[in-house]
Amino acid sequence: MIVRAACLIVMLSTGNLWAQDDTARPVARPDVPTDATTQAVEPAAAVIAEPAEDTVRPRARGSAEAILPSSEIRPIPRPFDRPDLAHGAQTQALFRAERDLFAFSPNAIATSPRPAVRPASIEAAAEERRLARLRGQICGDPSIQGKTLGRVDGSGACGIDDAVRVRAVAGVTLSPQATIDCRTASALKTWVERGVLPAVGGEGGGVSSLRVVSHYSCRTRNNQAGARLSEHSFGRAIDIAGIRLRDGTEMTLLTDWNSEDDGAQLRQMWRAACGPFGTVLGPESNRFHRDHFHFDTARYRSGSYCR
Ligand SMILES: [Zn+2]
Repeated sequence: MIVRAACLIVMLSTGNLWAQDDTARPVARPDVPTDATTQAVEPAAAVIAEPAEDTVRPRARGSAEAILPSSEIRPIPRPFDRPDLAHGAQTQALFRAERDLFAFSPNAIATSPRPAVRPASIEAAAEERRLARLRGQICGDPSIQGKTLGRVDGSGACGIDDAVRVRAVAGVTLSPQATIDCRTASALKTWVERGVLPAVGGEGGGVSSLRVVSHYSCRTRNNQAGARLSEHSFGRAIDIAGIRLRDGTEMTLLTDWNSEDDGAQLRQMWRAACGPFGTVLGPESNRFHRDHFHFDTARYRSGSYCR
C-alpha cells in the first residue's frame, strides 16, 4: 500500500509538470521583468520611463494645452457664460454650481452633456400648448375641442392615421362625440360657423348641439353588400340628423326638410356645406339620406359633389 501511494504521488506530480505547457495562463510581456532576480537588477522605474513600442498600456494624459496645438483650443460657451438666459432661482443656483465646479477642474471635459438652458420664449410656447390641451383644443384650432386619439385601427383597409374625438366645434356640442380626422373636423367647424349658426340665428335661444348619427364606421357605402368602402371607414365622414336648440327643440332632417317652419333654414345649411366638404348628400339625394346629411372630405376631380 505504501509503495502504491508513493507511485501515485510521483505520477501526479509528473502530470502537473506536463500540464504547465498547456496552461491558459498568459505569457509574460517582454518589457516586464519576470522574476525577482531581474527585478532587482532592472528597477521598475526604468521600464515605465521607456515602454516598448508595442505596449498596450495607455499613456497618462497631460493637460489639453500639452496635447493639442494652441490653435486647436477654443473656449466653448457654457450656460454660465450667458447669465442673461438664467431665469428662476433654481436655474441661477445651477449656473453658480457649474461655475464653481469648473473653477476647480480646468482640465475637465470641454463640453458638458447637460443641455443649454432653454430661452424663456420656448418655455412660454410649451406652457401655451399645455394650457391648450387642458382646455381641450385639438387640430391646432382653439374652436375645435376634444381629444387626440392618434392611429385608429380597423379591419382591412379601414382605420384613421391621425384620429381625434371631437366634443364641440365653434361652441356647438356634438352628440355623441365624433371620431374623425382633423381635416373633417375643420370642415365641420367651418360649416357650423358659416351655415348652421347664421341659419338658426337666435331661434330657440340659439344652437346647442348637433345630433350625430354616424362618424367613424368600417362599412360599405349605404351599408350595401359588395359596394365600395364608405368614407366613414377612414374617418373622413360625418352624418347629422338634427340641430338641437337651447330651448330643447330640434330641427330634424326627417320631419322638417319640407316644413314651412324650418325647411328654408335646413336647405341653407345644406348649401353652406358644399365647399367645406367634398361630398354633401341631403334628403333629396337618394332614399338612404332622407333623415340625415352625409358630409365627407373626399375630393373629386370635378370639384365638390352636392345633392
Ligand atoms: Zn354618411
